[in-house]
Amino acid sequence: MPIFLAYRAVMSSIGPVIDLHTHSRCSDGTDTPAEVMHAAVRARVDVVALTDHDVVTGWDEAEQAATELGIVLVPGIEVSCQVSGVSVHLLAYLPDPDEPGLRSTLEAVRRHRDTRIQRTVELLAADGYPVDYSDVVAHAGAGATLGRPHVADALVRAGRYPDRDAAFTDVLHGRSRYYVQHWAPDPVEAVQMVAAAGGVPVMAHPFAAARGRTVGDEVIEAMVEAGLRGLEVDHRDHGAAERAHARRLCRRLGLLATGASDYHGLGKPNRLGENTTSPEVLQAIVSLASGTSTRGAPLR
Ligand code: AMP
Ligand code: FE
Ligand code: FE
Ligand code: ZN
Repeated sequence: MPIFLAYRAVMSSIGPVIDLHTHSRCSDGTDTPAEVMHAAVRARVDVVALTDHDVVTGWDEAEQAATELGIVLVPGIEVSCQVSGVSVHLLAYLPDPDEPGLRSTLEAVRRHRDTRIQRTVELLAADGYPVDYSDVVAHAGAGATLGRPHVADALVRAGRYPDRDAAFTDVLHGRSRYYVQHWAPDPVEAVQMVAAAGGVPVMAHPFAAARGRTVGDEVIEAMVEAGLRGLEVDHRDHGAAERAHARRLCRRLGLLATGASDYHGLGKPNRLGENTTSPEVLQAIVSLASGTSTRGAPLR
């Protein structure tokens, strides 16, 4: 059998490749939404969720590209949350983006992120770092959810650091004197809000300790009471112990176990499809959702 046909045969026997966590320029990724879809095809990913931080503006462009390319788009959001000073990221799959509670909460988080990045930039500039808020905003692009990666990009442009990671390691990490918190909804309330918008709430990288403090199991149990449906188990920021713990929690609490890349374009080394979700789990997510539907190619 020619190599190409052999490859197709193997691929169809193992089923579609599903990556449920990616970012575009609408938040802190470096690709446009269409470029994320093209990159997914190159990485042989068949189903991709676009989950920008606190925003849905990339969905339409991603849908158009997914339709042209014949892949499936799962519209999603990564909702910023906070409890007792600990940052929690909640993936929301297939919510109705016009549901008023969800809409106004996302608007509020984005507003607080703007003032917080302005403050971060002011603190850095006061110490002589070559950053300017209007320049950060201009490069992020109109309407993008602002985050520390945009400040990192400004420092890289100024030649201060070689890449985002170096800027984070030196001045943008969570224990830095330049770190500023921003308001975000409580994760239990965010789970209820996503469910009320017909979406399926799945906690992103629950035990990624390198990013800062993580929540205890009791917070996850409270989120489950509120309607949490899954945990992102397979993620590059989880080691073997974290994955095992998350998988045990999934079994005990009746949660779906997902896996994804958390692709950010050139902003991080994460490669599309490096961690994936099973077709059965995707099917369960789609069945639970009532806010909107998958886009692009039909889901089979
Ligand atoms: P923020 O949303 O402003 O709190 O910034 C957190 C975001 O920064 C995360 O969503 C990551 O995408 C990104 N990030 C965190 N650490 C790093 C790093 N070392 N290198 C590149 N991006 C990072
Ligand atoms: Fe990010
Ligand atoms: Fe995240
Ligand atoms: Zn993410």
